[in-house]
Amino acid sequence: MTMSNLLAFRDTELSKKLVERLIPSLEKEREKLGRKLRFMEVCGTHTVAISKTGVRDILSPYVDLISGPGCPVCVTDQADIDHMIAFAKRQDVIVTTFGDMMKVPGSSSTLYEERANGADVRVVYAPSESVDIALRHPDKKIVFLGVGFETTAPGIALSMQRAKKLGVTNFWVYSAHKLTPPAVDILLQDSSYQFDGLLLPGNVSVIVGRRGWERLEKENIPAVIGGFEPVDLLSSISLLVEELNKEKRYVVNNYERVVKEDGNRKARELLAEVFSVQTGTWRGIGDLPNSGLVLSEAYRTFDAREHIEVEKPATKRIKGCLCGEIIKGKMRPFDCKLFAGICTPENPIGPCMVSGEGTCSTYYKYERGKVVAHG
Ligand code: SF4
Ligand code: SF4
Repeated sequence: MTMSNLLAFRDTELSKKLVERLIPSLEKEREKLGRKLRFMEVCGTHTVAISKTGVRDILSPYVDLISGPGCPVCVTDQADIDHMIAFAKRQDVIVTTFGDMMKVPGSSSTLYEERANGADVRVVYAPSESVDIALRHPDKKIVFLGVGFETTAPGIALSMQRAKKLGVTNFWVYSAHKLTPPAVDILLQDSSYQFDGLLLPGNVSVIVGRRGWERLEKENIPAVIGGFEPVDLLSSISLLVEELNKEKRYVVNNYERVVKEDGNRKARELLAEVFSVQTGTWRGIGDLPNSGLVLSEAYRTFDAREHIEVEKPATKRIKGCLCGEIIKGKMRPFDCKLFAGICTPENPIGPCMVSGEGTCSTYYKYERGKVVAHG
């Protein structure tokens, strides 16, 4: 996409016009329902974009834009964090991971604290850097802590393919990767939600395609795949309102410049070769069938869980932290007594305050001090 094309999606005049058109239709729906509309975004990047552009604020009298399980760091179960920290405690292990994982609190410490205490924990920007570290340190065991959704997992798959090709035998992966559609399914099945529609993640959809969400059509819930610029956000919300009034709903692709009907077949084939789909454990949600990626039979030799023994500590819930409920969209950061007091990005108590795409850190950055009224 050219810069001028991209700028069109940031156009202030067009955004204003979209807001002017959108508000009367939202008012009408609010009137019909006798409450505000509730749309959930299932993507941390959307949460950031909605806050940063002021869209949440402008539309707040008519619609609650609720953040769902959209950040891979936040949805990682605490037992997995504890397991990862246990790897770092081993003298013969070098742990590698993405920067966001460093400050996520486990039951008794963080990777950051372990590093300060002498553990060899290294931040990498690409998973393949871990293979390079393995080549440079043949006497050490390198464990890459992999978290992420459909968008991140292919890079980790490629690093294992590379390690296999090079015959690297001191590189392992702890896979906590997750698939997004099953989590969305489970939220929809929970009758305590009153969702009126879903804003689906643009980048995950690049991989799974519009078709990857087709199962939502059984639920007949308005669902729109959207991009991240103001025009994308506003037009996606308008489309959700339009869908509300249809009898039969289809998943709408409002991000066609990036998302194709069938997604990225090559990336999915790569995932299918290196990973197997199994039950995944999500923070706040628990075990979800067919939502976790573990290493496939062909790549089992790279599985850190199987090949490197550690003593797993008993997992203790973080007192007062509501991240589990925030991930499910049942509560907002403002509902947490620790928000912006004890819990800040400098001193995060839960994962939602750690990651730049976490709901709490986003609200802290852009919406702190604001009380968004419930409908
Ligand atoms: S990986 Fe995809 S779903 Fe996750 S935050 Fe980024 S864009 Fe959203
Ligand atoms: S404010 Fe902090 S403690 Fe509260 S839910 Fe968010 S991350 Fe957890």
